[in-house]
Amino acid sequence: MKFQAIKGVRDILPPESALWNQVEQAAREVFATYGYGEIRLPIFEPAELFARAIGGETDVVSKEMYSFEDRPHELLAPPTYGEIGPYIDQLKTWLENGRIPQDDDNKFRLVSLVQAWNDFKAKPGDRSVDTNDLIAVYQMGLLRDAVKLGPALTLRPEATASVVRAYIEHGMHTRPGNVKLYYMGPMFRRERPQKGRYRQFYQIGAELLGPSDHPALDAEVIEMLLAFFARIDLKGATLYLNSIGDRNCRPAYIEKLREELRKVKDQLGPDSQRRIETNPLRVLDSKLPEEQAVIEKLPRIAEHLCDACREHYAELKRQLALRGIAYEENWRLVRGLDYYMRTTFEITATGLGSQNAVCGGGRYDGLVELLGGPATAKGIGFAIGTDRLILSLEEAGQAASAAAIDVFLAWFGAETYPVAVALARKLRERGVAVELPAVEMKFGKSLSLADRLGARYAVILGEEELAAKQFTVKRLADGDQRKLSETDLLAYLLEARAA
Ligand code: AMP
Repeated sequence: MKFQAIKGVRDILPPESALWNQVEQAAREVFATYGYGEIRLPIFEPAELFARAIGGETDVVSKEMYSFEDRPHELLAPPTYGEIGPYIDQLKTWLENGRIPQDDDNKFRLVSLVQAWNDFKAKPGDRSVDTNDLIAVYQMGLLRDAVKLGPALTLRPEATASVVRAYIEHGMHTRPGNVKLYYMGPMFRRERPQKGRYRQFYQIGAELLGPSDHPALDAEVIEMLLAFFARIDLKGATLYLNSIGDRNCRPAYIEKLREELRKVKDQLGPDSQRRIETNPLRVLDSKLPEEQAVIEKLPRIAEHLCDACREHYAELKRQLALRGIAYEENWRLVRGLDYYMRTTFEITATGLGSQNAVCGGGRYDGLVELLGGPATAKGIGFAIGTDRLILSLEEAGQAASAAAIDVFLAWFGAETYPVAVALARKLRERGVAVELPAVEMKFGKSLSLADRLGARYAVILGEEELAAKQFTVKRLADGDQRKLSETDLLAYLLEARAA
């Protein structure tokens, strides 16, 4: 049997992983200069957290989440039919004392299971195990499996909800100043895989939480992001900007949009038609060529912002200008996630084809309160798609230098091996990358392997060298060869490494 990574997920191998490390390291360094600290978050959370934070009408929540049911660890093996009586009793107790979810749905499922079991026992004949009454047994099995044994958990599709959950859980609003956090790691969404779109993908993100929603904060977050992109030399980064209003002005705009959309409904495809009722803002996201002319004529949110939102947006643009940050306004930039308000932005880069968004972000002032935290705490943040960032860097010709081996340590004769082991350790302690063959190799083979591994030097230790307490060192690029004592060899290799 041959195993393969499942569709939409992939391995990141050396040397490419070195480029990932460089990029992540640059993010850590740049974000630190803006006062951000790393938060390490769980990979899974209650499904309810994401449903609540992101919104049930979004694609992410309605069809893309990887969710599963947790269960008490005593119950790892499902019971056989012969044990179903005691099992049902156990479920009843657990439902009563809250060890399994106590919602009405679950109560109803358990009642149905009890009923099915009672009906089954009431029939004449042998009602215990291995019965021929297959349909009844099968139905009981379905009911048994329908009872939820634990909460629904979800592999995180994004991390803002988790950051906010942690912010509230640890009472971080009592910390001085703004709370500035960054994270990096995998996210999971059941999307249709294609270039730049995976089911396990990676994000580097940052969130700023605190009592102020001043546009200078939005501008500084964007500045930090662009500073990071400049540091890693990302080509053709274009910033798109929009304001999508707040709780005061957005509902009226959405109603207006919905009204207008209903009038042109028959000119839209099935997805957009559905969204008119569920999430009309998302219609603006549509990339379908035949819908573009219709969408261009729709009312624009900029004309429906309340005074406070209009001022916030104008000040943001002023703050960006004073930082010398260029942007393009895009009134159709609404972002797929419900919790955004006012500022939204997106950054695209070159070399990515249709999936060219490398970063999305925005302000989410209501989210802390929505998740049960203090209403005074506001937030702004972004998430960078690391996979796409790396793709774009690679398309522009950046490659990680292959993890270079400095020294291939070729030893000949069993008695030289202990000396080779000791030398390898001394070199590695000094930061030199050493390849030490585990078994003795023929001279020609070992030098050819050193070459193929891309080693810069071969150190040769044979009986002759051992007797003279010396090492032969050969620079593989030009064949320069010399015999050195251990002290001189260490000095020579360290100097070469520093050069
Ligand atoms: P979002 O969390 O949807 O705002 O996405 C933020 C960024 O994450 C996007 O701009 C993409 O760069 C990246 N991203 C989102 N979904 C995927 C995916 N399925 N595969 C790769 N990157 C993704």
